[in-house]
This record gives sequence, C-alpha cells and structure tokens, in this order.
Amino acid sequence: MKLSKLASEIAESPTFALNEEARLLRERGEAVINLGIGEPRNKTPLSAVLASAAKLTSGEVKYTPPDGLPSMKKAVIRYTEENYDRLVAPENVSITNGAKQSLFNILYSILNPQDEVIVIAPYWVSYNEMIRMCMGIPVIVTPEDGTFTPRFEDIERAVTSSTRAILVNSPNNPSGAIYPPELIEKIVTMCEKKGIFMICDDIYHKLTFDRNVAVPAYRFTSKDMENSHIIVVNGVAKLYGMTGFRIGWVIAPRDLTRVMSNVLAQTTSCVSPIAQAAAEGALNGLQSVVEALRLQIQNNRDIVLQEMRTFNGIRLIEPAGTFYALPDIRAFNDNSVEASKFLLKKAMVVTVPGKEFGMEGHIRISFAGSAKDVTEGIARIKWALDPTSPNEIYIGDKKMVRDWM
Ligand code: PMP
Repeated sequence: MKLSKLASEIAESPTFALNEEARLLRERGEAVINLGIGEPRNKTPLSAVLASAAKLTSGEVKYTPPDGLPSMKKAVIRYTEENYDRLVAPENVSITNGAKQSLFNILYSILNPQDEVIVIAPYWVSYNEMIRMCMGIPVIVTPEDGTFTPRFEDIERAVTSSTRAILVNSPNNPSGAIYPPELIEKIVTMCEKKGIFMICDDIYHKLTFDRNVAVPAYRFTSKDMENSHIIVVNGVAKLYGMTGFRIGWVIAPRDLTRVMSNVLAQTTSCVSPIAQAAAEGALNGLQSVVEALRLQIQNNRDIVLQEMRTFNGIRLIEPAGTFYALPDIRAFNDNSVEASKFLLKKAMVVTVPGKEFGMEGHIRISFAGSAKDVTEGIARIKWALDPTSPNEIYIGDKKMVRDWM
C-alpha cells in the first residue's frame, strides 16, 4: 500500500503504546503498575462537571467560533491576567483540542519547509514529530551530563539564520526541572532581539514543589503583545487532571492567532462546546482543586525521593515540578529501551525509556498515580535492578525470586 512518506515516518507515541501494553497485561490478570503515563487520578472538578452538564442539557450543542467560545476566552483572559500579569485581548486567544493541538497549530503556522526549531533535551516526545510533520527541522540542545538545565551559550550557538522558534518546557516533562529565571530572561532577550518565536509550553506551570516557581517569560519582555515573539501554551489536562476533555489554549500576537484560527477551522472546525464549557467551569470554579492536586503530587514526589535514596547506584536530580522523575540508571544498564522492557517483563512496572526524550541511560517514572502504586512500583524496580535489595518480592499474589544476578 502506498502511503505518505512524511506521515509514515512519524513515530508512534511511546507513552500511548506503553499504556496499551499495560492495559493488555492487566486484562490478562497481571498485577501491572503503570508509572508510564502522565495522568493524575483525581476526579473531574465538580464545577467542570456541572458546567458541561448544563451545556449538554441545554440541547444547544453546535459549532463554536473556530478560536473558541467568547465565554471560554474570557476565562482564559482572566487566568492569564491572574497568573501571568498580562492583559490580553480575545484576539490573542485561541482554544484548541488539547495543548497538543495548540503546539501543532503554532508550528504549522510559523514554519516553512526546512526552518529550524530549537528543542532542549530532555524533551517531550511529541515536539520533534510535530516539527517534522510541519516540514521543519528539530535542532536539539543537550545539557551537560549530570544536569537537566541547558547552558545559554549552547542555545545561542544552535541559532542559525533558519531558526524560527525555540520550544521551552519548564517545568519540564520528562525531567521535572524548572529552568532558572536568569536562563528564561536570556532566552527572551535573544528571541525578542532576533525575531525568533519563544514557544513556552506551560502545561505544568502550577505543578511546582516546595518554594519552586516557574517564572513566566512575559516578565522579561518590554514588548507589547503584538510585537512580542513570546507564545504561551496552556491547558486543563495537568492543571485540573482533565486529560480527557482535550482543552488547551494559545496566547499569541493577533496575526498568528488569526492564521492558527484558519488552520483549526479547516481541520477540526472548532473545539466541542461541551468540553469548552467544562474547561470554563474549571477555570471559573474553586481553585482549591489545583492546590489539592499539587499537594497530592508533591507527596508522591517525596515518596519517590525517599524510596530512590535507598537505591544503590541510581542517580536522581530532584524534580522541582511536574509529576515525572528521570533517574539515571547507567549503573545498571546504558540502554534505556532494554531497561524499560526488562522492568515490564520482570517487575510488571511500566516506565518510559529516556531515549524517547533524548536522554539515553535514564528512565522516566511518572508519579501522577496513587501513592501506593508509586511506593510499590519503585520497590519492584529496586528489587529488579539493585542486587543489594532482598531477592524475594510479591507481585500481586505471586512470590517472585530474583534469579538474574
Ligand atoms: N506538553 C507537554 C510537555 C505534555 O507533557 C503534554 C501532555 N503529556 C502536553 C503538552 C499535551 O497536553 P494535552 O493533553 O492538553 O494535549
């Protein structure tokens, strides 16, 4: 069968593939623990449920404007003012089917074939594939070994006359790192001076631990909305644990918003009004749900730190935000794909190989699930990898004996 070369070369999403593998194993009765996918377990906030139910029962479920319902945009404008200290106009806002579509529409709207986009490793799995889908070229900047924060000089060195954008995801999936304000400031200054778009994927910006905060890029520009090259992406998936509602948004200059709106209109018409109403309900509802989720995740992060400390050989940089940890497992195996497969086969724990994020020798552990799963999952990983740990463990109701060391 003859298919598009471009589309055929797009890689499968490793996290969704692993999720499916875990589901199938669970269906077979295996006691699988999924530390692969980044999805909080909380229930949808009540304000979101009620708002979407009201929309549904109204019977008025029709197309909305391609850039979003005016009331949803209003909620996003308020959110931006409160959290970013930026007053934006409705013409600067577009509502999309998840932050994923926000990112795709931005890239599709700013890239010409062979344009370059700087991506900082470790990076979220979808960036490079999306850039390729838009005929662009990802240019990877990798931090020095032992850190997840890139050096500004390395970013600057990666800039060429073809650079159109840099993708900045802080707090970062998969490392949990928050880039320091000085680095953000330098990137903003460079982008504004050179006319390079700085795409801030802020999907985890409120999921930060202890005293860590993710400083918004806007703080470092003196340019107004229409002349700034800062673009902000956000959404409800991680903020409220509303992954299935598929609502994201972009804050951008009007010219770009207009083009993105045409792209969305011609591909998906608009975002479902039921989902938009839910997101609006969440944004306008009680914000204590965000803090409750953050505290639960922070507690899980503390469990990860505590359990990992007893782990001989593993090196872990403490996650400052998100719900991911990216331990260095090179003391056990340099090959993260092999290590993840091994952990699934022997310990029935799903992890994601660091290779997928441009960080070989590491595995990503999601601690978005329950404290019980996180504790047991890490105990099993320890049993499988660390020869100093006891060599017997229960996996479900099966007693397992380690016989490979
Ligand atoms: N950006 C990053 C860094 C993410 O981790 C994710 C979700 N895993 C997204 C964007 C996409 O979010 P959404 O579910 O809203 O499409």
